[in-house]
Amino acid sequence: MEEKRIYCKGCRNGCLLKITVKNQTILQVEGNGCRRGISNAQKQLELTALDPAPDAAKK
Ligand code: SF4
Repeated sequence: MEEKRIYCKGCRNGCLLKITVKNQTILQVEGNGCRRGISNAQKQLELTALDPAPDAAKK
Protein backbone atom coordinates (compact mmCIF):
# COMPACT_ATOMS: atom_id res chain seq x y z
CA MET A 1 0.00 0.00 0.00
CA GLU A 2 1.29 3.41 -0.92
CA GLU A 3 0.23 6.93 0.01
CA LYS A 4 0.42 9.80 -2.46
CA ARG A 5 -0.29 13.48 -1.98
CA ILE A 6 -1.24 15.72 -4.87
CA TYR A 7 -3.13 18.96 -5.31
CA CYS A 8 -6.45 18.57 -7.08
CA LYS A 9 -6.61 20.72 -10.19
CA GLY A 10 -10.39 20.48 -10.45
CA CYS A 11 -11.00 24.04 -9.30
CA ARG A 12 -9.17 26.90 -7.68
CA ASN A 13 -9.64 25.47 -4.19
CA GLY A 14 -6.68 23.23 -4.96
CA CYS A 15 -7.47 20.68 -2.24
CA LEU A 16 -4.53 18.62 -1.04
CA LEU A 17 -5.53 15.03 -1.73
CA LYS A 18 -4.17 12.13 0.29
CA ILE A 19 -4.53 9.08 -1.89
CA THR A 20 -4.10 5.49 -0.80
CA VAL A 21 -2.97 3.30 -3.69
CA LYS A 22 -2.53 -0.45 -3.91
CA ASN A 23 -1.59 -2.35 -7.04
CA GLN A 24 -2.12 0.76 -9.20
CA THR A 25 -5.66 1.11 -7.84
CA ILE A 26 -6.92 3.99 -5.74
CA LEU A 27 -8.45 2.63 -2.56
CA GLN A 28 -9.19 5.87 -0.77
CA VAL A 29 -9.05 9.62 -1.32
CA GLU A 30 -9.03 12.02 1.63
CA GLY A 31 -8.92 15.81 1.75
CA ASN A 32 -11.15 16.32 -1.26
CA GLY A 33 -13.73 19.06 -0.86
CA CYS A 34 -16.09 17.37 -3.31
CA ARG A 35 -16.51 14.12 -5.21
CA ARG A 36 -14.72 15.48 -8.27
CA GLY A 37 -11.52 15.17 -6.26
CA ILE A 38 -11.75 11.41 -6.60
CA SER A 39 -12.05 11.43 -10.39
CA ASN A 40 -9.39 14.13 -10.63
CA ALA A 41 -7.01 12.05 -8.53
CA GLN A 42 -7.68 9.15 -10.87
CA LYS A 43 -6.97 11.27 -13.96
CA GLN A 44 -3.93 13.03 -12.52
CA LEU A 45 -2.33 9.78 -11.40
CA GLU A 46 -3.65 7.77 -14.36
CA LEU A 47 -4.85 5.01 -12.05
CA THR A 48 -7.97 2.95 -11.69
CA ALA A 49 -10.25 3.95 -8.82
CA LEU A 50 -12.51 1.90 -6.68
CA ASP A 51 -15.46 3.92 -5.48
CA PRO A 52 -14.35 4.84 -1.99
CA ALA A 53 -16.69 4.92 0.98
CA PRO A 54 -19.09 7.90 0.78
CA ASP A 55 -17.41 9.38 3.85
CA ALA A 56 -14.20 9.76 1.87
CA ALA A 57 -15.86 12.43 -0.27
CA LYS A 58 -16.53 14.60 2.76
CA LYS A 59 -13.96 16.95 4.12
S1 SF4 B 1 -11.64 18.26 -4.62
FE1 SF4 B 1 -13.34 19.43 -5.44
S2 SF4 B 1 -13.29 21.35 -4.25
FE2 SF4 B 1 -11.27 20.38 -4.02
S3 SF4 B 1 -10.00 21.28 -5.67
FE3 SF4 B 1 -10.85 19.34 -6.44
S4 SF4 B 1 -12.68 19.98 -7.54
FE4 SF4 B 1 -12.13 21.69 -6.18
